Amino acid sequence: SIPLFLHLVIYRSASSSTLPSFLLVGPSGSGKTSLLTLFERGGHAETRTSQAPLTVEVSLPVTTTTASSQYRSANDPSNQIHKKFLLADTPGHGKLRHHAFDSVIKPQNLKGIIFMVDAADISTSSSGTGNEALWQAAEYLHDLLLLLQKRANTKSPRGPTELPVLVAANKLDLFTALPAPLVKAALESEITNVRSLRTKGLLDSGIGMNDLDIGDEKEWLGDGGEGKFDFTQMDEVNVSVTVAGGNVLGADGPDVKQWWDWIGSNI
Ligand code: GDP
Repeated sequence: SIPLFLHLVIYRSASSSTLPSFLLVGPSGSGKTSLLTLFERGGHAETRTSQAPLTVEVSLPVTTTTASSQYRSANDPSNQIHKKFLLADTPGHGKLRHHAFDSVIKPQNLKGIIFMVDAADISTSSSGTGNEALWQAAEYLHDLLLLLQKRANTKSPRGPTELPVLVAANKLDLFTALPAPLVKAALESEITNVRSLRTKGLLDSGIGMNDLDIGDEKEWLGDGGEGKFDFTQMDEVNVSVTVAGGNVLGADGPDVKQWWDWIGSNI
C-alpha cells in the first residue's frame, strides 16, 4: 500500500500547491493535533480535513505582521487580506523514516518546519535518572536537523536554500513545564549526547542515511565530534532554529502568538 506520507503529497499537489506550507512534526503527545484544531478555528479557515496525516488550510490573523507586509502602510487594504498557508501534520512517529520524510520536504513552497515538543514532559526528572521523553525528543530533532543538513549539502537546484525550524515548546500553561530557554538548553545538551553516540557508531541512525547516497559527506550534525552542540551550528547550512514557547490549551486559553509571529515572518 502507499505510505501515508505519499497520500499527503498527492493530496496537497492536487489541491493548493501554490500556498506556502509548513510541516508540523514532533513526538506523539506533544500537541500537534490540538494545534491544528486551534488554528482551524482561530484562523477562520475554510477547513478541510482528511484522514491522518492531516493537512489544513489556515489563515493568519490579520493582526500578525508578515514578512511581505511589514513595509506597507497600516492603511493599505492588502493588509486586510488573510495570509493563508497550509499546515501539514505528520503522525507522531518517534523516529523519522527517511523515504517518507524525504517526500515531504521536497514539495514546492515549503516555508518551514515546526517541531512541537511537550515542555512539561521533558523537564528533568527529580530522581536524577535519564529522562526518556527528553531523549526521544532530542533524537527526533537530531535526525530532522541532520536530514536538513544533508539536504542543504546535496544542493538540489530546485530546493530552497534555507529552511527555518521552529521548536514550539508547548504546554507552558502547566507549572511543571520548562520555560523556552531551558527547553532550548535541554534539547541542545541532549542532542549533544545523541550526536556523540552516533559518531561513535553506538546508535543506529533513525533515518536510513545510507539511502541518501551523498558520497562522503560527513554523517554527523553541525560541528560533529566531541564538542557541545548548539542550534547556531545549523546556521552554516541555512537552517535557522528558533525556540519559542506557548500553549494550545490551558485554563487561561491558548497563547500561540509567538508561533503565529514566526509563521508570519517566514511566509
Ligand atoms: P499529538 O500526538 O502531538 O497530536 O498531541 P495531541 O494534540 O493529541 O495532544 C496530546 C495531549 O496533550 C492531549 O491530551 C491534549 O489535550 C494535551 N495538550 C495539548 N496541548 C496542550 C497544552 O498547551 N496544554 C496542556 N495542558 N495540554 C495540552
